[in-house]
Amino acid sequence: MIQVFRGSSRDPVRSESGTVATGYLIGGFAIDAPEGVRYPNSPLILLTHAHCDHICGLANHNLPYACSEFSAKAITQPMEQATLCTHLGFQPPRRPPQEILKDGQTLQGEGFSLEVIATPGHCKGALCFYVPEQKAMFSGDTVFGAGALPSVSLPTSNPQELLSSYEKLSGYEIEKIYPGHGTPFPGKDYIRRLIPILQEFI
Ligand SMILES: [Zn+2]
Repeated sequence: MIQVFRGSSRDPVRSESGTVATGYLIGGFAIDAPEGVRYPNSPLILLTHAHCDHICGLANHNLPYACSEFSAKAITQPMEQATLCTHLGFQPPRRPPQEILKDGQTLQGEGFSLEVIATPGHCKGALCFYVPEQKAMFSGDTVFGAGALPSVSLPTSNPQELLSSYEKLSGYEIEKIYPGHGTPFPGKDYIRRLIPILQEFI
């Protein structure tokens, strides 16, 4: 039911720097708009955050998207420090979202629901999406696999906020995590185990 779409770039610098993101399709929703990804059947794209490697696909199609209020500002103004677009050689799409997503809001799909969870820390306005029917967490750059921490030294990062976000996410029953880069991995108790790693880092 969840399809994985690996982004791709013709730019060898971006391909090698790990800034090519992963997208997902679940029912009528897609998670993020990575470079080189074409989703079938015109889903509504839900953005985990406004960093350019997660939004740059918006410039290549006219699919509607939804995101946090801060991400909407970052994309439409645009705010370089929040998108890092120019830094990585992209143009921000500038078109506004169809919908602003709020913490705790639930989106209804066919036979499943998606809960919107505000998870600032890696960057301002970051969101995760939880599907209780599948115990699936779409984590964007908030959670990576193999015990790795996301960058918390970017212009809108805040390590203390990331810690609060991890504590919040630890309250969810998660079977699988679908990260913004790389491939999905088993997620049971995974985020709880990241907390001491992050505390040590802070
Ligand atoms: Zn990011």
